[in-house]
Amino acid sequence: MAEILVLVDHVEGAVRKPTLELLTIARRLGEPSAVWCGPGSDGAVETLGMYGAGKVYVVDAPEINEYLVAPKADALAQIAETAAPAAVLITSSWEGKEIAARLSVRLGAGVLTDAVDVEAGPDGPVATQSVFGASWVTTSRVMHGVPLITVKPNAATPEPAPATPAVEQVSVKFSETPGARITGRTPRESTGRVELTEAAVVVAGGRGVGSAEGFRVLERLADKLGAAVGATRGATDLQYYPHEYQIGQTGKTVSPQLYIASGISGAIQHRAGMQTAKTIVAVNKDPNAPIFEMADFGIVGDLHKVLPQLIEEIDKRSG
Ligand code: FAD
Repeated sequence: MAEILVLVDHVEGAVRKPTLELLTIARRLGEPSAVWCGPGSDGAVETLGMYGAGKVYVVDAPEINEYLVAPKADALAQIAETAAPAAVLITSSWEGKEIAARLSVRLGAGVLTDAVDVEAGPDGPVATQSVFGASWVTTSRVMHGVPLITVKPNAATPEPAPATPAVEQVSVKFSETPGARITGRTPRESTGRVELTEAAVVVAGGRGVGSAEGFRVLERLADKLGAAVGATRGATDLQYYPHEYQIGQTGKTVSPQLYIASGISGAIQHRAGMQTAKTIVAVNKDPNAPIFEMADFGIVGDLHKVLPQLIEEIDKRSG
């Protein structure tokens, strides 16, 4: 079976969940091989094998940490040229999409971005994309060169398929113009909460929350549920909550088991980022708010009265 290259997304040596999703998808298409760029691969090989990687290519060169995306594109291009994979899968982050674009130029290959699913087809992988604010679903395949596909987080549930990967150290000939150089790093302050795109429960707030202070009650509820906090663009534009937590067409895509929408009207651009949530609970004081059309459970009321009661009830039940 043909190799499918999966670029590993990792933080300080830990493989991020979207990579495990890509390995799961890759197994539908062929034999997954992981591509690890940077230091710290030793502790991750077992995890990558657990999700079916038969091979791990390791590119541990200083260029990877010294520059932004270009060296990773160089590394992937070189590996793809020798391995001749049937597809390359990359997480659909800003970085992932830029790597895919550069790789596309380097390999002269077609690229599909923001896939929400990928299946094997008779003529190569078929990517499903949700377009025009999720009002259309398209299926496409790459017609030229090795298919390069960036896949949105939560497109698949990671399924283990234990393998013992062979590890191959790769020495890459980097391009002479490696692009933007990293001159410093400032670690983001941790909220202690689970990453938004990976969360099983998301508590999201909109303009109806009313203020930045108003988001505290959402955070309290999220902490009771082990959830992540998200927001609409309406709320982030008013600086009620930071932009990095925006969910929707121009924000992040989430696909949790439970989505609690508070003070959110349900605009199509917001739905685009959360409509695949398994169970949607909406709290809105307007009984005609469009969010109720898609909610599994709706509560008509003031979120500042409803959410504290919810927290109280959780406290009672958790003893
Ligand atoms: P509103 O639509 O103002 O809704 C607020 C809701 O809160 C109302 O339904 C109201 O009844 C309710 N409410 C008020 N007070 C309370 C209370 N005390 N208790 C309970 N309910 C209350 N939006 C996104 O979210 N994400 C995107 O990625 C995104 N991308 C966009 C891209 C483009 C190109 C464009 C044009 C728009 C985009 N938008 C996006 C904006 C989108 O169109 C909406 O404007 C936005 O989602 C509305 O946010 P909201 O639901 O918080 O606010």
